[in-house]
Amino acid sequence: MTSRNGYKRTVCYYYDWLTRPHKATEDEMNRFHSPEYVRTLRRLEPDNVHNFGPEINSFLAGEDCPIFNGMYEFCQISAGGSISVLAGEDCPIFNGMYEFCQISAGGSISGAIKLNKRATDIAINWAGGLHHAKKSEASGFCYVNDIVLAILELLKYQQRVLYIDIDVHHGDGVEEAFYVTDRVMTVSFHKFGKNFFPETGDLKDIGAERGKYYSINVPLNDGIDDESYVNVFQPVVSKVIETYRPNVIVLQCGADSLTGDRLGVFNLTLKGHGKCVEFVKGFDIPLLILGGGGYTKKNVSRCWTHETAICLNVDLPNDLPQNEYFDYYGPDFKLHISPSNAFNQNPQQNLDKIKSTIFENLRTITHAPSVQMKDIPDFRLIREETKDEDMEDPDVRISQQRSDAHIQPDNEMSDSEDEGDDRRDETNHMPTQPKKLRVGEPVDTAQPQPQLVLTTNGINILSNTESTNT
Ligand SMILES: [Zn+2]
Repeated sequence: MTSRNGYKRTVCYYYDWLTRPHKATEDEMNRFHSPEYVRTLRRLEPDNVHNFGPEINSFLAGEDCPIFNGMYEFCQISAGGSISVLAGEDCPIFNGMYEFCQISAGGSISGAIKLNKRATDIAINWAGGLHHAKKSEASGFCYVNDIVLAILELLKYQQRVLYIDIDVHHGDGVEEAFYVTDRVMTVSFHKFGKNFFPETGDLKDIGAERGKYYSINVPLNDGIDDESYVNVFQPVVSKVIETYRPNVIVLQCGADSLTGDRLGVFNLTLKGHGKCVEFVKGFDIPLLILGGGGYTKKNVSRCWTHETAICLNVDLPNDLPQNEYFDYYGPDFKLHISPSNAFNQNPQQNLDKIKSTIFENLRTITHAPSVQMKDIPDFRLIREETKDEDMEDPDVRISQQRSDAHIQPDNEMSDSEDEGDDRRDETNHMPTQPKKLRVGEPVDTAQPQPQLVLTTNGINILSNTESTNT
């Protein structure tokens, strides 16, 4: 597809057989999560929960992991159908839980690797976006935080990562992970208020230490409609990008901010939600697009279909095509949905105040900070790469993997699957690799920094409708 500056762009969509990502390994998950927590997730099954001690209560239950309307059904969908035990009163343990986490996290990490390799301009993983998971705690039906893991992967090469979250809930797990660094700016648009999970994300929560002013929260009220939302989203995101100048953007597209969501309280249609995606895409900055919440299933599939089409610059007809799920979309069988008559509890003056506070905060930060990685205090999340990993020859591993004809063993090494250039047309491949950034190594500002790359190899869409993998 052609971007506004005339470049052809590439979109990588992870339901395609050719780009099937690896499942995240335990080592990869340990880059953010505690090993004890990941080990427990891996071993825990509905039938053996009674074998575990009280430690699982701290991992999987408690105030941060409440049961919510639709959660059980959501688990069923995610796990392909079977939950037999609930741990305590809170988080469900279901068959296939760990594999679900592996698939979700593997997709996001693989997308990050593709972007680092400049093998795509946009990578999409609708199975990702689980923004509530904490280092040692499941929360809000998020067990493994694929977003944090993907951002950590991006930070190996990218100086500044911008995270934007349009789920109706605050992106608390991601914000918390990067609260004290300026290498990641988090911007979350969400419903904020008492008794609305997770009850965090106040306007005044702005980050700390070196990360002060690098966490941005846009607290909203019930009933916000397309016009109000877009009128906040666009100026805030514009100013953030202009100030922060990210090398890459991660966009969490939770669909529970749509009208009619079983948990959400906003009144957005696909058009308003999709405009945010289109707006971010318009900056021509490498983009990782992830899913997230969404509890009215038929609208989630509508939304992410619409947004996949936006990424591909494809116009879809409003009449849905015949398919085996067609009956779910009655009575109108249309792609687009209409807003409800809910009252918009977001007066313009409140929204203006939020915007001006954010703009004021942005004015105080360094313009496009040039990161001295050794100066980052307590940035404990980037694991020092092991010698063994550095010594591995990615080409050898790719070759091996290709010879396996894309069959992914469960114990596949973390980033080997995507280390190669698996684009269909390699003739115009950008040959240069971005310089790899390491913990403790200052950035050489005399060298050109990683460029924003738009591939020029024609319409090379790795997505298709023949996928058998959805
Ligand atoms: Zn949500």
